[in-house]
Amino acid sequence: MLVIEKIAEMQSKSNDLKKNGKTIAFVPTMGYLHEGHLGLMRYGKELADVVIASIFVNPTQFGPNEDFEKYPRDFERDKTMAESAGVEYLFYPAVEEMYPGSFNTMIKMSGITDKFEGKTRPGHFDGVATVVLKLFNAVLPDIAIFGQKDFQQTAVIRQLVRDFNIPVNIVVAPTKREEDGLAMSSRNVYLPSDLRQKASIIYSALNSANALINQGEKKRLAINEIMKNKLAEVSEIRLDYACAVTADSMEEPDEFNSGESVALIIACYLGKTRLIDNKVLAIP
Ligand code: AMP
Repeated sequence: MLVIEKIAEMQSKSNDLKKNGKTIAFVPTMGYLHEGHLGLMRYGKELADVVIASIFVNPTQFGPNEDFEKYPRDFERDKTMAESAGVEYLFYPAVEEMYPGSFNTMIKMSGITDKFEGKTRPGHFDGVATVVLKLFNAVLPDIAIFGQKDFQQTAVIRQLVRDFNIPVNIVVAPTKREEDGLAMSSRNVYLPSDLRQKASIIYSALNSANALINQGEKKRLAINEIMKNKLAEVSEIRLDYACAVTADSMEEPDEFNSGESVALIIACYLGKTRLIDNKVLAIP
């Protein structure tokens, strides 16, 4: 596996690969890799000839009081893990390479970004969209793979690709979970062991709502209520949102229709750690 730190070198390598008829799958990450990331990389190998991953903790998607400085980083460990998952090129730019002093353009999104994650984290998705466009222009992939774990992010990326006519095929892969159901996340290392044990309640809340829907419940507020009640069993949880939304546009009708695809989305703080998770299912 080759580590590439410069944008120009990455572009030149990708152009060479394409000239040789190779297709490229790209997995952008912020590093501190776990099985969730590695699953996306392995999936990339099934979808294209060459897998390129990136590791870049993107400052523009963190708010002033968020964890940019203390976000976990371990490049040597990440390198070994990415290579074991079949990554051939690891793009690892420095902050100054991506955002030199002369950098002056930010994407400003609206609509889908006005609610949920975007509401709690103002500017977050502008930073995500900006860095993803920059990464796409460095890596020049045919396919880019994102995790369903960040449900709203996948909708934002699809919007970005539509709005800017970006010739990249977006693929979303399912969420990898720990044995107790907690969605894998680099931020799980922040959880002290007592809270880590309680974190599986988030998955239980999603499953309770799933079961209620399968029993015939279609009313949005009733579905939200069962998730909130479940999460309230852990006193250390501070809820941001627990909502059922339409999976395609994240809207909140009073009632869902049979056959409609619904996303159950949760964001909460467990102690100081912000955790998100979701489940997508069809209304019977
Ligand atoms: P991150 O490093 O957190 O920015 O995540 C990089 C990519 O990995 C994003 O597309 C995430 O949605 C995806 N990802 C993160 N956690 C998981 C998980 N548990 N299962 C599947 N994909 C994930």
